Amino acid sequence: MLTQQHIAVIGAGFAGLASATLLARAGHQVTVFEKFVTPQAVGAGILIQPTGLAAMRTLGIYDEILAHGARVNNLCGVSHTGRQVLDIQYERWQTGSFGVGLHRGALFNALWKSATEAGVKIVTGQELTQLDTLKSYDLRVIADGANSQLRSQIGLKFKDKLYPWGAVWAVLPDPQRHHGSTLWQWCRQANQMLGIMPTGFAPNSDTPVVSLFWSLRADRFDDWRKAGLQAWKDSVLALNPACAELLANIISIDQLTWARYHDIVMPRYHTEGDRDSAVIIGDAAHATSPQLGQGTNLALLDAVALAESLTNSDSIPAALATYTQARKGHLHFYSQASRLLTPLFQSDLTVLPWFRDRLMAMSSTWPVMKGLNLQTLVGVRRSWLGGQLKL
Ligand SMILES: Cc1cc2nc3c(=O)[nH]c(=O)nc-3n(C[C@H](O)[C@H](O)[C@H](O)COP(=O)(O)OP(=O)(O)OC[C@H]3O[C@@H](n4cnc5c(N)ncnc54)[C@H](O)[C@@H]3O)c2cc1C
Repeated sequence: MLTQQHIAVIGAGFAGLASATLLARAGHQVTVFEKFVTPQAVGAGILIQPTGLAAMRTLGIYDEILAHGARVNNLCGVSHTGRQVLDIQYERWQTGSFGVGLHRGALFNALWKSATEAGVKIVTGQELTQLDTLKSYDLRVIADGANSQLRSQIGLKFKDKLYPWGAVWAVLPDPQRHHGSTLWQWCRQANQMLGIMPTGFAPNSDTPVVSLFWSLRADRFDDWRKAGLQAWKDSVLALNPACAELLANIISIDQLTWARYHDIVMPRYHTEGDRDSAVIIGDAAHATSPQLGQGTNLALLDAVALAESLTNSDSIPAALATYTQARKGHLHFYSQASRLLTPLFQSDLTVLPWFRDRLMAMSSTWPVMKGLNLQTLVGVRRSWLGGQLKL
C-alpha cells in the first residue's frame, strides 16, 4: 500500500478536486494547481447518474448533493409530430434508482470543501503550461479538461476531434417546478433539439432552476445570433409551445451560452517506467458529447479508481497500470456510444432520425435493447457485449 507520495494535480475541476480529496485522505501530500484566480464551475446543469452518485457516497458528499439537486426519474423524448420516441425510467433499471439534475456550482462547492478539509493544498492563479516544472513530484495527475495543454507532453497517443455541433444553454428559474422530475427532449429530425432538465438550486439560492439546451451546428452560430432572440424563440415555441413562460426569462441573446464538445480517445492513460510518472483523468483523457450525460460521472469514477489503484499497489507504475486496466473498457464504451448516438440527435441527417424514432420507441419493449438502453443511461455498461460496473 502506497502512502506519503507527493502528488501534483493540475486542474481544480470535478476530476481534479475529487481525486485530490481521495488521494489526500489516503495519506498522500497533494497539491492542486488551478489557472483561475477565483475558480468556480461554469457551464450548464449536469445530470448525475447512479454511477456518479455512488462515487459521491465514496467522497462523502452524497447528502449535500441530494439537498441541492433535483431528482430525475426518467428521460422522455418527443418528436415534432408529438410522437413519444423515448421514455427511459431509472426505476426499470433498479428499484429506487434515479438521476440528479444539478447546478455545477453545487458540485464544485461540495468538492472544494471536501478537498480543503482533506488537507489538499490548492494553488490558484497558476496556469501550468510545462509539465516538466512538476518533475519533483512522485506523480502528476493531469485533470486540465478537454482543452488540455498538458496531454501532449507525456508521449501518449491520443485523438482529439471537435464535434461539428454544439449547444446554447441557459439556467432559468422554475419557481413552481413546472418541469417536475423528468428530463425532456423535443426533436425535429436531428437538426433541432430542445432539452429541459430540472437542475435543483443554484448555490446560495432557494429558487428551483432548470437547464435549457438548444442544439446548434457550430458553423451556423453567427447566423443564429444575427437572426436575433425572437427568431430563436419562435423556433423553440414551434417545437414546444408549453415553454413560453420559461422563455420569458430570456430577454437578451447574451443569456444563452455557447458550448462545443470534444471527442477524445486514448488507448492508455498513464506513462510507463519509474521516472516522471503521470496519469490523465476526466475530460482531458476522454471528453465526449454530453448526449448521454456521462462526462462528470466518468470523471468522478476516474478519481475513485485512481485512489483505489494507489491504495492497492506497492509502486506508482503498478498503480497506474492497474488504473488504465480498470477504466479502459468502460471509458471506451461511452466514447463509442456517444460518437454513434450523437449524429442521431445532432446532424442534418433525415432518414436515420426517422428510424431512430421508431426503433427507440420499439426498443423500450424488447428485453435485450431495453437492458442495453437502461444500463447505458445509468452509466454502468462496460462493453457492447455486456458486463456492468458494480456500484
Ligand atoms: C453543454 C454541456 C453539457 C454537459 N452535460 C453533462 C451532463 O449532463 N452530465 C455529465 O456528467 N457531464 C456533462 N457534461 C460534461 C462535463 O461538464 C465534463 O465531463 C466535466 O466537467 C469534466 O470535468 P473535468 O474536471 O475533467 O474538466 P473541467 O471541468 O474542464 O476542469 C478542468 C480544470 O482545469 C483547469 N485548467 C485547465 N488548464 C489548466 C492549466 N494549464 N493549468 C492549471 N489549471 C488548468 C480549468 O480551469 C478547470 O478548472 C457536459 C458538458 C457540456 C459542454
